[in-house]
Amino acid sequence: MDAGRRAQPLRQAGQIPTPTSQDPEQGLTEKVLADTDVLTWWGHMAHGQVKDEIVERVHKCVLNGMGLIVMHSGHYSKIFKKLMGTGCGLKWREAAEKERLWCVNPGHPIADGLGEYFELPHTEMYGELFDIPQPDELVFISWFEGGEVFRSGCCWTRGKGKVFYFRPGHETFPIYYDPNIRKVLANGVKYVARRAGSPYSLNAPNIKDPLSPIAAEHEVDESLHKH
Ligand code: ZN
Repeated sequence: MDAGRRAQPLRQAGQIPTPTSQDPEQGLTEKVLADTDVLTWWGHMAHGQVKDEIVERVHKCVLNGMGLIVMHSGHYSKIFKKLMGTGCGLKWREAAEKERLWCVNPGHPIADGLGEYFELPHTEMYGELFDIPQPDELVFISWFEGGEVFRSGCCWTRGKGKVFYFRPGHETFPIYYDPNIRKVLANGVKYVARRAGSPYSLNAPNIKDPLSPIAAEHEVDESLHKH
């Protein structure tokens, strides 16, 4: 199945357009990203084919406030690893087993309208240890029929941007047609969406003129501030 058809249920959920690795600039031009409030990232293979300059561009956009939802095997994408700063490895098994996702943060906006837990009849298993930094907010923990558990719904803030990782999404099962999964993704899009917030700069400006007078006399050793 090509990437466009696989993405169909997500497009129906309102997340368009759908760049693929075949597009010039890999679909992620400065213009596209500037017009994007939330970028959803799914990929199972070919993470290495995403150009480093594109990863840098997306990274900067997240720091500046663009929301990012990383789904399923996107855990091994360059952008997710860069944002996390850890290896992002995990255990896995494809055996069409049952998954039960427990909500462990019922007041969280991403859990809005969902039950205490929901189930997927057939999934690929992802198991701990998931090599990520401690999530700022943990929303779902998965239990698998084969015995493993996994932190399946995790949020972080990076710069001014919000990142949501959501585990389910193996393409040989109809995961993205499941109403609970679609609810989580719709809630997630709203939660990580770009917002005005407070001023933010990626630079490190030298504020020579203070906002109010400073009494001390001090001579600056400029040699310490050269890069
Ligand atoms: Zn998979």
